Amino acid sequence: MRPEILFPLFTPVSTLQGVGPRLSTLYEKLAGGRVLDLCWHLPVGMVDRRYSPTIADAISDRVATLKITVSRHIPSPNRRSPYRVICHDHTGEMTLIFFHARGDYLMKLLPVGEERIISGKLERFGDVLQMAHPDHMVPLNEEEDVKTVEPVYPLSAGVTLKPLSKAIKASLALVPAVPEWLDNSLKEQENWLDWHSCLKKVHHPQSEDELTAFSPYRKRLAYDELLANQLAISLVREQQTAAKGRVIKGDGSLRERMLDILPFKLTGSQDQSIREIIADMESSNRMLRLVQGDVGSGKTAVALFPMLAAIESGSQAALMAPTEILARQHYKTLQPFAEKLGISIVILTGRDKGKARKAILESIADGATQMVIGTHALFQDEIDFSDLALAVIDEQHRFGVHQRLSLARKGAGVDMLVMTATPIPRTLMLTAYGDMAVSRLTEKPAGRQPVDTRTVSVERIDDVINGVARSLDQGTKVYWVCPLVEDSDKSDLAAAEERYRELSERFGDRVGLVHGRMKGAEKDAVMEKFAKGNVDLLIATTVIEVGVDVPQATIMVIEHAERFGLAQLHQLRGRIGRGSEKSTCILMYQGPLGETSKARLKIMRESDDGFVIAEEDLRLRGAGEVLGTRQSGLPEFKVADLACHGELLATARNDAKLIMDKDPTLQTPRGQALRILLYLFERDTAVKYLKSG
Ligand code: ADP
Ligand code: MG
Repeated sequence: MRPEILFPLFTPVSTLQGVGPRLSTLYEKLAGGRVLDLCWHLPVGMVDRRYSPTIADAISDRVATLKITVSRHIPSPNRRSPYRVICHDHTGEMTLIFFHARGDYLMKLLPVGEERIISGKLERFGDVLQMAHPDHMVPLNEEEDVKTVEPVYPLSAGVTLKPLSKAIKASLALVPAVPEWLDNSLKEQENWLDWHSCLKKVHHPQSEDELTAFSPYRKRLAYDELLANQLAISLVREQQTAAKGRVIKGDGSLRERMLDILPFKLTGSQDQSIREIIADMESSNRMLRLVQGDVGSGKTAVALFPMLAAIESGSQAALMAPTEILARQHYKTLQPFAEKLGISIVILTGRDKGKARKAILESIADGATQMVIGTHALFQDEIDFSDLALAVIDEQHRFGVHQRLSLARKGAGVDMLVMTATPIPRTLMLTAYGDMAVSRLTEKPAGRQPVDTRTVSVERIDDVINGVARSLDQGTKVYWVCPLVEDSDKSDLAAAEERYRELSERFGDRVGLVHGRMKGAEKDAVMEKFAKGNVDLLIATTVIEVGVDVPQATIMVIEHAERFGLAQLHQLRGRIGRGSEKSTCILMYQGPLGETSKARLKIMRESDDGFVIAEEDLRLRGAGEVLGTRQSGLPEFKVADLACHGELLATARNDAKLIMDKDPTLQTPRGQALRILLYLFERDTAVKYLKSG
């Protein structure tokens, strides 16, 4: 249960004064729907209104706050000329300028003969000091409210600064004083203030420096966030390794026969990775290893051998994929091998229902099944393994940490192997997995042809379609990937369906459509027709992104390539170039492109190396944005910026380790405070494990 002290932060923004249904919807879109989310909506700029000269001394082109007396109003003589209000102080005169103004409204705000505080940008025309549309025009008693530094927040359509600032201010007023979770010596050494004071300071920048990641206030908040992240990972890890690992040692018989029936020779990388994994399994420590390998580097084969080792030792092995399509594909790849080796293999997905499902579950529970392929359905509590020794998670960036954990809990000391095609830099790895042993597949299987990648403006879509027509005539299979539309996958779907209708008109029933909203069986049927049957042109949303293998497909068209992350484009492109034929990837873009977008598409043309592409993307867009994409599956940070806070991450990691040594169940006063920290950063799942553990 969430600590009571945090309740005010988790209330909806609609409870704030002045935030009605319209604004709360807008704020929810912009920052999130809770008070806490507005607190984390940090300023990106500031307006300094502290400069407060007399009219005679005022320097133009600066934002200033002046105390003036209204002399007279000069209404606009015609629609193109502005309304003017002449003002003075004891040193001189100035003019306030208003375009399309309502005179009665200005008369009320600026009555002749009255003193007012005005604030805005000054300009000088010849001798005349002017201010167009002052940001503030208030009575004298509000001077102190105006003569400050105003934070500038990121906005969105329909959201303007003034009401948003007010809502954020109201949110900050609800921030409780929380007990300190930092180690005292670190806090002193860094000269950090309390968490709530830092949060308020961050929202009231006094200089441009304070807006950067290096401001001490932001650093403290970033540290809190990284500590929450590292502590959560440590807690999860503690659970994973609490059960002692077991020695899994097979006699090698299945693996030997597998090498004989494998239709290719393992690459050096594959061989090396398999050795590393087997060594982990044979040790008495619990394995937690990541296999990183580009799309097409042959991770499935790498997973297969340790699974066989587990089965040789008399135990079970499970392989889990993030989508139904992928699970089915793995099953199709592995089933013939299993049959030849005399191994019993089953597939379990959410689609299996009723009697059939019951039978599968029973065979898993009584050990009749040795190898299980599945989707997240394997995570469910009703599933009991007779003796699970190895769990392989493919393309795990789609799974959450706690899902990984629930699988590991299915067997005592289950060894875990996680496979990913996402090239993750080391610092980012730490935030996602903590310390994890890594095997990398750097070599590609022989005979792979690099994909010829071209960029084409969407204006030339007719040429592209004609090119596709020619290729189809020559018996080629073609993927057509539809754009990622922001906000809702509904509109993704609409775009794909529209393209499908259009292309069907031209190519008839050779066109197929596959998208995330389809039922599993429908999806499979279409994929099957594309792989083997009469569908030659497959319109797809990004559901095909991971893992699908159709070697005859040699052309891929990607619409609105500029909207995709590079890693994602690279993954998509990995679907082709799998056979011996030359493959082409056409990245269609909607111009005009900015410099960054141009550079990003250029990398895709020039490089075929996932790690190079990821590094370049990181460099061009910054960690925030690369990681900000929901697809990455890596943790997103509200304050921490890994490009700037790498050292803090290292400290947080050590800190978390110490905490786990000294107070692994978070019972001490500091431990209690750390629980609040975990809730504050919504790492509740980790706390849950703490309780059950
Ligand atoms: P990944 O999952 O890493 O993207 P896969 O395991 O799906 O890649 O392998 C891609 C293709 O490469 C498959 O068709 C597979 O049979 C083939 N393959 C894997 N290893 C080798 C190898 N050593 N030599 C030749 N082909 C291989
Ligand atoms: Mg794969």
